[in-house]
Amino acid sequence: MTTETVSASPAFAALGLAEPILRAVADTGYTTPTPIQAQAIPQVLAGGDLLAAAQTGTGKTAGFTLPILHLLSSRKVETRPGRPRCLILVPTRELAAQVEESVKTYGKHLPLTSMVMFGGVNINPQFKALKSRVDILVATPGRLLDHLGQKTVDLSGVEILVLDEADRMLDMGFIRDIKKVLAVLPKTRQNLLFSATFSDEIRALANGLLHNPKSVEVARRNTTVEVVEQSLHRVPQAHKRDLLAHLIKRHDWQQVLVFTRTKHGANKLAEKLNKDGITAAAIHGNKSQAARTKALASFKDGSVRVLVATDIAARGIDIDQLPQVVNFELPNVPEDYVHRIGRTGRAGATGAALSLVDDEELSYLRDIEKLIKRAIVRVEVDPDFVPPAKADLMSDERPPRPPQGRGAPRQNSGPRQGQSQGRGQSQGQGQPGNRSASGRAPQGQGKPGATAKPAPRPGPQPAAHPRKPRPQAALFSSKPGSRGH
Ligand code: AMP
Repeated sequence: MTTETVSASPAFAALGLAEPILRAVADTGYTTPTPIQAQAIPQVLAGGDLLAAAQTGTGKTAGFTLPILHLLSSRKVETRPGRPRCLILVPTRELAAQVEESVKTYGKHLPLTSMVMFGGVNINPQFKALKSRVDILVATPGRLLDHLGQKTVDLSGVEILVLDEADRMLDMGFIRDIKKVLAVLPKTRQNLLFSATFSDEIRALANGLLHNPKSVEVARRNTTVEVVEQSLHRVPQAHKRDLLAHLIKRHDWQQVLVFTRTKHGANKLAEKLNKDGITAAAIHGNKSQAARTKALASFKDGSVRVLVATDIAARGIDIDQLPQVVNFELPNVPEDYVHRIGRTGRAGATGAALSLVDDEELSYLRDIEKLIKRAIVRVEVDPDFVPPAKADLMSDERPPRPPQGRGAPRQNSGPRQGQSQGRGQSQGQGQPGNRSASGRAPQGQGKPGATAKPAPRPGPQPAAHPRKPRPQAALFSSKPGSRGH
């Protein structure tokens, strides 16, 4: 009996993927292609360009990785060291590491090699790796340009280019870097562009890059992941840290991803939770890659219950069945809310997203609800919550500033930030709007911890009572800097 063919999923086999790839897919336990996979894989196998609208969590990585492995392994091409045949450009280091991990997972029965390349780490091991054969290169734009400048990588053999999370790359100011990379690629190649949202800039990029692309779309534009239970507490900014600690204990949350607006806020919150006996770690652009990898690993293996992250640092965090996301502050860019809550409820699992909303964030809330076309359920703060004494109030941060409008600078945007992230310095977590040392509770707050508008809105019932602990996430490790299979 050949275990390989017996275990291969007929649904994946029907897509026409080679047997070693089907075997690797079977090893992962996937039996059914996700909608993006079902649509994208045949299109990529057909060889044309592709424009794919897919949010993170839809299985998009396998959607491009599987057919790419098939195409590369089916073509007989002479390879040279440091001359990749496929280039996958991604916005962040974490995503780079995770995409390359997927390449290795799905390509483990093939004789293809891969390499991940990003900034913030010693470049020498990358030089060394490029002295060997590299079929698939997963890179952030900044470090790739460094290598191009030093002529340590040769992109003249690229048959397939992928821009993954293209919207994020543009948000992070990578457009010029991307154009420089495009300029050195061979003219004849296959191009795949994946993006969660389609701004005019993305459309312009797609128009210049793609030739007669097929388009696939799995989630309606800017649609909130339907399976995520969304609720919010109205709470003064100064009470949020205490309330979060209370909620984690009360609901016995074992694995919570918390988003803060600033790096400083992330540190402070992690400190506070640890002080309260709740293991927590912060990840953001000021942390070294080693510290970030360690924090992520501890979160994944359950030794840290709470991971506090800023938006960009959280990109690419891939944890199956992450049960709980908390928005410690609402993002001022409504699309970021969708990205954030997309960290839970992945691949069809259910998840919950709770937002802590200060009065000064109400305009952000309105923008978000407009975007997702639904009201987020308002839930009264647990009456057992005892707000902190005045002397213990958060004294180092103000609530988010009043609305700055959609044209306002993104907290994580701007060419300089994108550049520095890609080149491995800070990760570009700019903090416009963050002022320190307010010392006051925000103006206009009612009773401590009380909700100003208790009337529930229509929508799914929130988790206003202790949730049953959910199983720990299924995890896998990512090893930045590794290569080959
Ligand atoms: P992605 O959108 O590529 O980040 O993938 C989201 C999650 O879905 C990852 O944890 C994958 O391991 C998982 N996944 C990908 N394809 C499948 C599939 N066909 N069945 C179940 N889970 C999948």
